[in-house]
Amino acid sequence: MTWENQLKKNICGIEQLKKYIKLTPKEEKQLRKAAEIHPMSISRHYLSLINKKDKNDPIRRMAVPSEEELNLLGSYDTSGEAENTKMPGLQHKYKQTALILATNRCATYCRFCFRKRLVGLPNKEVLRRFDDAVRYIKKHKEINNVLISGGDPFMLPTRLIEKFLEKLSPISHLDFIRFGTRTLVTFPDRILKDKTLLNVLKKYSRKNKRIYVVTHFNHPNEIAEKSINAVAQLMKHNIIINNQTVLLRGVNDNPRTMAELQNKLVSIGVNPYYVFQCRPVKRVRHHFQVSLFRGYNIIEKAKKKLNGHSKRFKYIMSHKTGKIEIVGIKNNGIYFKYHQAKNSKNIGKFFKRKLNKTGGWLDDFQ
Ligand code: SF4
Repeated sequence: MTWENQLKKNICGIEQLKKYIKLTPKEEKQLRKAAEIHPMSISRHYLSLINKKDKNDPIRRMAVPSEEELNLLGSYDTSGEAENTKMPGLQHKYKQTALILATNRCATYCRFCFRKRLVGLPNKEVLRRFDDAVRYIKKHKEINNVLISGGDPFMLPTRLIEKFLEKLSPISHLDFIRFGTRTLVTFPDRILKDKTLLNVLKKYSRKNKRIYVVTHFNHPNEIAEKSINAVAQLMKHNIIINNQTVLLRGVNDNPRTMAELQNKLVSIGVNPYYVFQCRPVKRVRHHFQVSLFRGYNIIEKAKKKLNGHSKRFKYIMSHKTGKIEIVGIKNNGIYFKYHQAKNSKNIGKFFKRKLNKTGGWLDDFQ
C-alpha cells in the first residue's frame, strides 16, 4: 500500500476510535466537543504505540482529544508569528532564517501543537505562491538557511518537495535547508515506503549544503522499530537529523523519562537540539504546560543522568521576542539568556526576573 493510501486509514472519527479505546459516555461527549474544534487524526502506526489499557498512556495523551481542551486559557499565536509573516506561508523573524509553512496537514494531529490554529483547518497562513517566497529569499542575502515546516512538509507529494529543493538549493547564500517533520515519529512509512523521497533528499544533500531533518520525539515509547529504521534510512541518504522535544505535563515531565528519551535518541543517531517549554497556547496551556520552576528542575535532574553528548540540547522558551534559554535559578531569581532574538541586539543578553514557582512563560515573571 502506498503511504498516501495508508494515511487514508487514519483514525479521524470518535466512532472509529471507540473500537480501539474504551470511553465512558461522558468522555465521549467531551471528546466529540474538543474534536469538533480541532480535528483528530491518528495514524495506525501511532495508534499502535498506545497502551489501550492505560488511560494515562503518554502517546494517548498526545494524540487523543480530551475535555481539558475546552479550557480557553492562553492564545493561538504565542510566538508572534503573525507579525513576522512577510507573505502567506513565509515568516522572517530571525535575520538568518526564513520559515516556510508549506502545508496545514500532518500525519497525526498532536493535541499539544502550538500551531493548533492552523493544523487540519482551513486557513490563509500556508504558502500559496512558492515562487514569491523564493524571490523574497533571493533578495534577502542575510538569510543563510530555510526551514520548511507547516503542518508537516512530508505530507506533500514528493514531486513538490523536489520542486522546493530544486528552487532553493541553487541560492548561493543558503548554507543549508531544513525540513521540520514529525513523520519519523507518527508515520515512519512516509520515509520507509517512498524510495523516491529518499533519493531526492540525497540528491540535494550536498557536501557543502546539507539537508537537515528536524524531528520531534517526545517520549521513549515513540522510538519504535519503524522509527529507528526511518532514521537509519535518512542517515544512509546523507541527511542529518536533529530533535526538538516539548516538555509536556503527563508525557515527559520527569527526569527519568526525559533522560531516557535523549539517551535513546543519541543511540539511534538523532542529535538532541532543543527541549522547548510548552507554549501558552489556547486549549493546550492548561493541561500540558509545567511551570518554569518545575521544568528547570526536571531538566537539571535529567542532565545529571546524561553524558555530554546527550545533553547538548538547550531548554528554550520560544517567545515572541526570541529564543530564550532558561539558564538558572538561584535564591529568589530565575535567569534567562537570549539564544536567538528578533532584535539582533538582544542576542546573548543575560537577564534576571523575580522567581515565582507557578509562572510558565516569560510574561508571567516581573
Ligand atoms: S506534527 Fe507538528 S505541526 Fe503537526 S500537529 Fe504535531 S506538532 Fe503540530
